[in-house]
Amino acid sequence: MGLNVDLFEYQARSLFEDHGVPVLPGVVATTPAEAAAAAAELGGSVVIKAQVKIGGRGKAGGIKMAHSAEEAAKVAADILGMDIRGHRVEQVMLAPAMDIAEEFYFSVLLDRAERSYLAICSMSGGVDIEQLAAEQPDALARVAVDPLRGIDEAKAREIVKATGFKADTAEKIIPVLQHIYEVYREEDATLVEVNPLVLSARGEIIALDAKITLDDNADFRHENWGDIAEIADGLGPLELKAREHDLNYVRLAGTVGIIGNGAGLVMSTLDIVAEAGQRHGGQKPANFLDIGGGASAESMAAGLDVVLGDEQVCSVLVNVFGGITACDVVARGIRGALEALGDNATKPIVVRLDGNNVEQGRAILTDYAHPLLTLVSSMDEAADKAAELAHHT
Ligand code: GDP
Ligand code: MG
Repeated sequence: MGLNVDLFEYQARSLFEDHGVPVLPGVVATTPAEAAAAAAELGGSVVIKAQVKIGGRGKAGGIKMAHSAEEAAKVAADILGMDIRGHRVEQVMLAPAMDIAEEFYFSVLLDRAERSYLAICSMSGGVDIEQLAAEQPDALARVAVDPLRGIDEAKAREIVKATGFKADTAEKIIPVLQHIYEVYREEDATLVEVNPLVLSARGEIIALDAKITLDDNADFRHENWGDIAEIADGLGPLELKAREHDLNYVRLAGTVGIIGNGAGLVMSTLDIVAEAGQRHGGQKPANFLDIGGGASAESMAAGLDVVLGDEQVCSVLVNVFGGITACDVVARGIRGALEALGDNATKPIVVRLDGNNVEQGRAILTDYAHPLLTLVSSMDEAADKAAELAHHT
């Protein structure tokens, strides 16, 4: 199938432990009572962390401290059931609270563009890494890793040097980077990310957060994955792909694929397509897909990839109102997706763009002149056209 399977932090933490990456003890709880028991078992102050497969839990209020078993139960009750950007919290992990001296960032990933591996390291960890990359690109060291050589001591040394760590910290981090790479290689991961990798007040290096994406193609050689990779929560491949790209996607029963930006716009698009469908043999929306308010060309391309991958889809309607996202960015995403799909793109796509940079966006698609693309200017016209095309294919 070729799916990437994201792990929960507690699962990733356990693989870290298996490969000698220093982590804190962690106990999973699904109820406040279990959390109280776990806190009592760990002793002292604890950190209670929402287990959801999405970053930024701290900012969203999904990570809190507790200083007694009783408080742990209360805090767990608050966090359990929380919704963190579309992910419901079913489990929390408790870990002993620690005093942090410094927070770093480290990841190893598959660099598809370079057909190689890439290590990214920074002395400014614990923050949103995409934001750091955009605002202070120099704060990130990017070091290519030869898959045949991996991260041996010399490579780890090169990485810490490029990052700029002080000598004593560097010496402590070098073996940890080698162990993290061991996780990446031995577990057939496509991403291992530690944010933050911390230097504790007592001078130890600890992986305080753990993110792993496994390459499901390799599951046949990993008995230990067992329940870990239990193909993520019963989601189908389209849902999984959507989730991987942080797209809000719900598959429905119809034939007209829908992509829009902003939940409100997508919902009203579903309504007008359902209405237009009545004039065209009862066509209905095939899905809800919101690429988000600040959508990028990549999210547009990923959205098209998901919707075009659905065999029930006969036509696609892209309805974008350029606000934060400019229409030319969206248009480039559509063009990029069609270029990437090549001959695999066989379904007609109706595009309605409006708002920020609409002229540039339309010009890009008009110049591209792809035979499957139809540009229309109003939402009603777009819905009608998409339903008509779905009826006749
Ligand atoms: P994320 O927000 O989903 O990336 O979750 P993290 O596990 O990375 O935690 C976010 C932040 O919470 C970290 O960067 C730390 O600053 C803080 N944090 C997490 N665990 C501890 C802990 O044991 N002690 C202290 N003092 N802070 C912690
Ligand atoms: Mg983190």
